[in-house]
Order: sequence, then C-alpha cells, then structure tokens
Amino acid sequence: MVQRRPLVAANWKMNGTLATLRPLLAEVIAGLDDGAAEVALCPAFVYLAEVAAAVADSRIAVGAQNVSEYTYGAYTGEVSAAMLKDYNCRFVIVGHSERRNLYAETDAGVAARFRAAQAAGLTPILCVGETLAEREADATEAVVGRQLNAVLTAVDDFAGAVVAYEPVWAIGTGRTASPEQAQAVHAFIRGQLPAACRQQTRILYGGSVKADNAATLFAMEDIDGGLIGGASLDARAFLDICHAA
Ligand code: PEP
Repeated sequence: MVQRRPLVAANWKMNGTLATLRPLLAEVIAGLDDGAAEVALCPAFVYLAEVAAAVADSRIAVGAQNVSEYTYGAYTGEVSAAMLKDYNCRFVIVGHSERRNLYAETDAGVAARFRAAQAAGLTPILCVGETLAEREADATEAVVGRQLNAVLTAVDDFAGAVVAYEPVWAIGTGRTASPEQAQAVHAFIRGQLPAACRQQTRILYGGSVKADNAATLFAMEDIDGGLIGGASLDARAFLDICHAA
C-alpha cells in the first residue's frame, strides 16, 4: 500500500489583520509538534511575506489562496505564480468554491490557474465539491467529476498536485460530511485520477473540520488530511487538527 504523507492546510481567507494574525502565527509555530503531517498556512496575499519570514526556520510551508492564469501583464488585482514563488510559496489553492461561486471562476478558468501554478513549480490544491442542491439531486459524482475532469484534460501531468474535496454545504456552516460520506467521494475522486498517480495523490477533506472531528475524518482510507477554514483561525484548534493528521 502506498503511504501518503498527510497535509493540513490552513485557509485564512480574508480574515484578521496583523494585530490578530501575528499572535496566531506565533502560537502555531511554537505549538506544532514534529509529527508526520505536512502543514501549510495560506494567508491573504498581503501577508505572504510576513508569514514566509516567520515560518522560515520551522517545518511549516506557505501557500496562497489563488493565482492568476497569466504569467504577467495588465491584469489589475491579480497575482502571478512567479510572484508567489518570490515569497517562498509551495502551495496554492485553486478553484475554491468561494472563487467559483462569488467570483464566477469557471472550470476552464480554474484549469488555467492550475496550469499556471504547475508551470511555476507550485503545488496546486484543487478544490472540488458539490452544493447541497446538487447532493440532494444525486449529482455529487457528476459535479465533482466534471470539475476534476476539466483540469485533468487540460494538463499533461497531474502527479504532485493535491485535491481538496470540499462539499459547499459543509464550508463554514458547522455541518460536516460524515467520515463515510467524505470517504465515498474521496474514493470516487481517486478512481478518476490517472492510474500513474492515483495512489500517490493526496486528497484532503475540507468543510467544518474541527478539533473534535478531525481524527475520525483523517482515519478514513482515502482522506489524506484537511483544508481548514474557520478552525485555522484558532491556534489551539488548528494545532489539534494538525496533530490528529
Ligand atoms: C474552506 O473554506 O476551505 C473551509 C474548509 O472552510 P471551513 O473549515 O470554515 O468550513
């Protein structure tokens, strides 16, 4: 059986200011054990430099929350993959449901961002997930399969990338997919991946992961860690989640 190193990534979204993020960061750095899981922090762009400098001597990696599909040019408000590399980013989230739903990012646009990340040597964390209406219409696999396939057909190689299954109905709602519900979709996703990287690819679960449900989710066969929103803003909760992975 292939051993996949668990990954726990914090998605701080557009939360906090230096006044609150500095103590959070310090507490996470100080409290992290030297366990097996890889840990990444994804702050807003403007805090990448601060976070990258703070974690430089720790085992914490830095990630961004999005990346432009373009390499450079007149794209006001966008940030390129090369810029993220300048700040030692290893990871970048692409296709988060908030980007898809609030900023109209399409499957094709997400695939283009994924390619730009890959081309620059960043590890994309590709988010996929269905809405409640889609789940209730029994369309979970169709939606997740479509989102995944849009990227798989646009890239030459998927190896090294990370997938995050994030049911939209579980994000920030306090409603978590049961370990069995999540495992079923993770197994489906794994089955869709190219055979050459199917067993090695890490598939994270995201959606109201908390200190008290992390261990049971992470114990499932195809769940290789988590993408953590709300709970990552609480150092103690985030550390407990990291230590459960
Ligand atoms: C997310 O938005 O990626 C997420 C998982 O959020 P939360 O943990 O708050 O549900």
